Amino acid sequence: MTHLIWLQRDLRLADHAPLFRALQRQHKLVIAYIHDPKRILGEANAAWLAHSLTDLQQSIAKKGGDLLMLEGDFAQCFEKLVQDYQIGQVSYHYEVGEAFQQQQQLALEICKTHQIALTPYDQAWLPSEMVLSQKGGIYSVFTPFYKKLLTLFNQVALPTNAPTELSAAKLAQPSQLPKTLVNISQQPWAQQMLAHWRSEPNQLGIGEKAAQARFHAFLQQASNDYPEARDFPSEPATSKLSTHLQFGEISMRQLLYHLQSAKSNPDFQIHSLDIFIRQLAWREFGRYLLQFHPQIETQAFQTKFAAFPWDNNATWLSAWQRGETGVPIIDAGMRELWQTGWMHNRIRMLVASWLTKNANLSWREGQAWFADTLIDSDPANNAMGWQWVAGCGVDAAPYYRLFNPVVQSEKFDANAEYIKHWLPELKSLPAKYCHAPWLHSASLEQYGFKLGQHYPKPLFDLQQSRANHLQRVQANKSYT
Ligand SMILES: Cc1cc2nc3c(=O)[nH]c(=O)nc-3n(C[C@H](O)[C@H](O)[C@H](O)COP(=O)(O)OP(=O)(O)OC[C@H]3O[C@@H](n4cnc5c(N)ncnc54)[C@H](O)[C@@H]3O)c2cc1C
Repeated sequence: MTHLIWLQRDLRLADHAPLFRALQRQHKLVIAYIHDPKRILGEANAAWLAHSLTDLQQSIAKKGGDLLMLEGDFAQCFEKLVQDYQIGQVSYHYEVGEAFQQQQQLALEICKTHQIALTPYDQAWLPSEMVLSQKGGIYSVFTPFYKKLLTLFNQVALPTNAPTELSAAKLAQPSQLPKTLVNISQQPWAQQMLAHWRSEPNQLGIGEKAAQARFHAFLQQASNDYPEARDFPSEPATSKLSTHLQFGEISMRQLLYHLQSAKSNPDFQIHSLDIFIRQLAWREFGRYLLQFHPQIETQAFQTKFAAFPWDNNATWLSAWQRGETGVPIIDAGMRELWQTGWMHNRIRMLVASWLTKNANLSWREGQAWFADTLIDSDPANNAMGWQWVAGCGVDAAPYYRLFNPVVQSEKFDANAEYIKHWLPELKSLPAKYCHAPWLHSASLEQYGFKLGQHYPKPLFDLQQSRANHLQRVQANKSYT
């Protein structure tokens, strides 16, 4: 019998339960990835995917197997696979998010028609159905969810090793990378963006080995300082594992296993490891929420926000997207995103707050831009992050909590290192003028710097926009 290992966001060989189980049963294997260009999540994402698939194909080939890559309408490709290879069983990792759910539903229908067993595996720490309150309820606040998770950590399965050989997955002909992915990854912007990830210290790059290397480098070099340094965007203090996790190049179980093991090594601080594990748990929480509340990908979790009076302002939206709002910390973040496909978490919160609470534009606009430009864009985390900042999600920031981008900039980028890196036009200015240059226009002239010419004036007055937002929220009691 031929067993299809259908890949989605699990582009690795280690801790791959469907693959591991099928090999244990000594089945003949077809390992396949189907790329349906209609379901593409975002272009930045796709550029990374092209390289991740290439890397996986090479790893599989080294072990004597082949990765089959198909491109086209998902249902047609899946049907063709089943028929061409006389598939008798299908295993895959279950994913949340509308695009994945649709694919999974189609796969289910095709398997039913052909009377093929279809087995989903979970790659979360634990199946969501296990993480319920005492009364069997679904958590909608992070802290109790996390406390419950902590009590269940001993039930998280141990990660399995990568198979040593894969000749059971040898096909007649090696596959080509899907054309649309090749085209995207060859675009100059994509090459420039990915070059950034390759030119980082250690040349960590893309794929399973790179993910492992990045994690171990983080553990050795940065994990002890993570709690204090992780909020400072110019520090190399966070793991930058999000894109590897998004494509499943490393699994959450592998991370948890190594982090828990590191606690018995005196080189590592248990408190710091715990803080990092807690942050990973936010990812689990996002996935959990989207599984139980699939509507939150497109609608506010708090339904009372469905009719919130967001504005339409194409000029402001476009200035935000291009990093030309005139508020340096916001513009630095948006330019980092454009050039690298990634943005620091604190800066994501600030740019999201500026868009939704100062410019009063819908969180859906920001979510869509992030989905297209982030290489780690993930349907669950993106929806959760935007709704949290906009105040309409679970556990959301209260309506009166508006980040003041100037205060945040002074606190988390006091020397303006982050700002100057992404906004080289401000390089010649003393740091104290970089947080709110509009307050110092006269002093800037001694540096040959003219606001409005070398860097934009702010689009609007931040204090006034804050007052406008609060007024708008308070006008309708149900929003407060
Ligand atoms: C508006 C907004 C949108 C976001 N969109 C995404 C997205 O599309 N994809 C995405 O992966 N993350 C998203 N995040 C969460 C967070 O910003 C990133 O996961 C984090 O910046 C990735 O960097 P890192 O890997 O260095 O994080 P680290 O600090 O090293 O954390 C390790 C891992 O924990 C998880 N994690 C950390 N913080 C969060 C968080 N707040 N929420 C959920 N998971 C977290 C991530 O998987 C991350 O890789 C968003 C946050 C906001 C505020």
